[in-house]
Amino acid sequence: MENLLPQNNTKRKVIHLDMDAFYASVEIRDNPELANKALIIGQDPRQSNGHGVVATANYLARQYGVHSAMSTMKALKLIPESKIVFVNPNFEKYRRVSAQIHEFMHELTDQVESVALDEAYLDVTHNKLGSYSAIELAAQLQEKIFKETKLTSSFGVSYNKFLAKMGSEYAKPFGRTLILPQEAMDFLAQQPISAFPGIGKKTQEQFHEMNIFTGADLQKLDVRFLLERFKKMGYFIAQHAHGIDLRPVISERQRKSSGIERTFEPNIFVENTALTNLRKYSNQLSEKLKRKSFTAQTLVIKVRNNNFETITKRQKLPHATNNGIEIYQAAKELFAQVNGFLNQGIRLLGLSVTDLQASNYEEISLDLFTTE
Ligand SMILES: [Mg+2]
Repeated sequence: MENLLPQNNTKRKVIHLDMDAFYASVEIRDNPELANKALIIGQDPRQSNGHGVVATANYLARQYGVHSAMSTMKALKLIPESKIVFVNPNFEKYRRVSAQIHEFMHELTDQVESVALDEAYLDVTHNKLGSYSAIELAAQLQEKIFKETKLTSSFGVSYNKFLAKMGSEYAKPFGRTLILPQEAMDFLAQQPISAFPGIGKKTQEQFHEMNIFTGADLQKLDVRFLLERFKKMGYFIAQHAHGIDLRPVISERQRKSSGIERTFEPNIFVENTALTNLRKYSNQLSEKLKRKSFTAQTLVIKVRNNNFETITKRQKLPHATNNGIEIYQAAKELFAQVNGFLNQGIRLLGLSVTDLQASNYEEISLDLFTTE
């Protein structure tokens, strides 16, 4: 049944960087007196009528069972009052530090995908230092970050994103995990199912009822069973259990947009001609997105008439897509808003997609869910 899974790709080198208790660590760095306290980044509930959530807690606070997104009120109940300190988040400061860390990342590669201020993926398959050793690059980066910012970070290194992320989680705090292709199955076998992405509390309970507790248990399951029981999520879980994650690392520049525009001489006066061209653009954009395993969430049309008046219209799509027909349907709707330009003649017509994201297995799995 394993042929239901897509062909694995173990050729890439992906690093996942995660700063350790980032906001809390920045505050402690700037005010060392906080180091011996259970530090909560979040508004003190005693001064906010009990409102607010924990943005970050330092490791001491975590020992009391406090975690991000917990209500500050609950944190206050878990930690003795003599130990607990609340500090309001200073996002401007965190953004500054984050920008500094991103500069260090870009010394290695521009294939950097930021997930949050304190978290990013780097694809170092081809990197600026010409290094073959991704773990060596991770070590360099970790050292540089510590030297320049006095902050600790954790790294996971592997051939795809989810393994790299599981690796950095495993390495915390201030560690590094390398998962080689030939080690992935063993590493995953030893993990509790809660360590797998997408397996939340509810799904965990369902698995536990079936006596499934570890990655090893997941690996023994029939892919088709996971598909039928958990649908699309089950398919992701099956892929993860077998060390498969084909999502690319998408840099900011790539995420932004991809487009096609052309000048027409003679100008376009006929709607059908414009639509024929938009259909062509849509297919080309679709091909381009599919080649890179991207989907797009927003479509932008640009028209310029013979008087050099230019107009752009954008539309958010109901769901991210790289399907040529769906792109064309949306393009047609957008064109209906600007077809007045046909009167003077359209000299430039452009179509672009933005809000790009990793296609997230969608294409691979679609067939499986439509055939009963
Ligand atoms: Mg973090």
